Amino acid sequence: MVAQLAKTYRAVLCARCNEPIVVSPKVASLQDEIEHKGADSSRAFALRCVLCEYESVYTIEDVKRFEGEPRRRTARTRVATA
Ligand SMILES: [Zn+2]
Repeated sequence: MVAQLAKTYRAVLCARCNEPIVVSPKVASLQDEIEHKGADSSRAFALRCVLCEYESVYTIEDVKRFEGEPRRRTARTRVATA
């Protein structure tokens, strides 16, 4: 049984707006591999910020764990004020 009391996610901080960008499951598993095997953590990958759309290159070392749920870009700009 897997305990999932606290929700966490892995993300890097955007180089421009400093908001967390959620990494792909592939990157997350790569990070696990590095943590367990002590492999090279300088593997780089490109990631685009969902908030400011700035794309930059990050390394596995930049990936941090965050508590809670990732912020998502929602298209809910229209607010129902009826
Ligand atoms: Zn950003």
